[in-house]
Amino acid sequence: MEFDLIASIRSRARQREDVVTGIGDDGAVLRPAAGHELVVTTDVLNEGVHFLASNPPADIGWKALAVNLSDLAAMGAEPAWCTLSLTLPVPDAAWCDAMLDGFFELADAHGISLVGGDTTRGPLALGVTAMGQAEPAGILRRSAARPGDDIWVSGTLGDAAAALSLGQGGDEPDPFLRNRLQRPTPRVRLGPALAGIARACIDLSDGLLADLGHVCKASGVGAEIMLAALPASPPLTAAAPADDIRWNWQVSGGDDYELCFTAPPEGREGILSAAEGAGVPVTRIGVATHVAGTGPAVRLIDPQGQPWSPSRPGYQHFT
Ligand code: ADP
Ligand code: MG
Repeated sequence: MEFDLIASIRSRARQREDVVTGIGDDGAVLRPAAGHELVVTTDVLNEGVHFLASNPPADIGWKALAVNLSDLAAMGAEPAWCTLSLTLPVPDAAWCDAMLDGFFELADAHGISLVGGDTTRGPLALGVTAMGQAEPAGILRRSAARPGDDIWVSGTLGDAAAALSLGQGGDEPDPFLRNRLQRPTPRVRLGPALAGIARACIDLSDGLLADLGHVCKASGVGAEIMLAALPASPPLTAAAPADDIRWNWQVSGGDDYELCFTAPPEGREGILSAAEGAGVPVTRIGVATHVAGTGPAVRLIDPQGQPWSPSRPGYQHFT
């Protein structure tokens, strides 16, 4: 059974020229470009935690790769290769084929080769390891923000959280919002385009407040964020019964897979033209500050200039 599945995966995996040996041996042999660093990231999606068994399999395959490509983008790396570790309760070839439709749709769109993996029996889970490359000076680290930097985000925030929350409440979410949850768009071209212009960068998987908090901690800075500046899609605005509900989705919802990055104010034009070249809108949402006493590192400011806090800080797996 396992052999048939692997053979069918192998038959669909396109190999780049820098794949010396792909699927079929004990390990893949890859040839990184000269003068580049190898950037590696891994994320597992578990049934019941990250997706439901009832989700379309193609969406599950897409998302398993997308969340990893988002991490590579946040490092400023261009994705090149990936592996897929599949844990399946039963060897369901039809489910696998449908899952791979989504996985390869995204992989092929960005010219990424699936070069290996593992296939085992157990509760449904997909583990992807993605590898990319970047020139040493182009790598974007969480620790590089400085006081006075602008803080930017790509795309819009809160769409996935709204879809999740509306779905859990028994409402059928708007198709745009549901797509943002089940088929997030990793900002693959934006990350590398920010090299040399942005300082710190992180991708938003656990919500702006939590993830920007990681940048603040790693960089030793604070952050002031204007709630009125947070980019919202029209369907999100339409779905939110009140401002504070929308802000909750936008700052603590999670699953956005947008990039949040900092850059000095002199870099504004460069950021805007990099974003235009990457085909992704970006919005300036606040500034990095010196750490102020003992208060929270990330301060959210409402349209009246008053501090504001969400009812829930962000997604955590073990609390
Ligand atoms: P091994 O016993 O050496 O781990 P496997 O039978 O697990 O061999 O895998 C055989 C080949 O198929 C290896 O090249 C492995 O990387 C690849 N492979 C196994 N499962 C997957 C998968 N889910 N996706 C992609 N490649 C896979
Ligand atoms: Mg194996």
